[in-house]
Amino acid sequence: MLKLPGGGAAIVCGGRGRRKLCSACRKNESTKECDYPAPGVGHNTGTCDKALCAGCAVSVGPNLDHCPSHPKAAEAPSGE
Ligand SMILES: [Zn+2]
Ligand SMILES: [Zn+2]
Repeated sequence: MLKLPGGGAAIVCGGRGRRKLCSACRKNESTKECDYPAPGVGHNTGTCDKALCAGCAVSVGPNLDHCPSHPKAAEAPSGE
């Protein structure tokens, strides 16, 4: 049971099933999806779409996250 400093108790939902686990660590709840371009792999988006938690997702840009297993995309050249 978690107690918050404010005096209230945190509501801990005991529901299971709807949350996807991170496909990389399989421990944390996923909050992101891989945006790595993977034509033919995803259902329809053409991206990897694997579930990733915040700790595993590799941020490659605004709203862009990749699986840690992907090779790093060509790093954007700094400058121009
Ligand atoms: Zn993870
Ligand atoms: Zn991926």
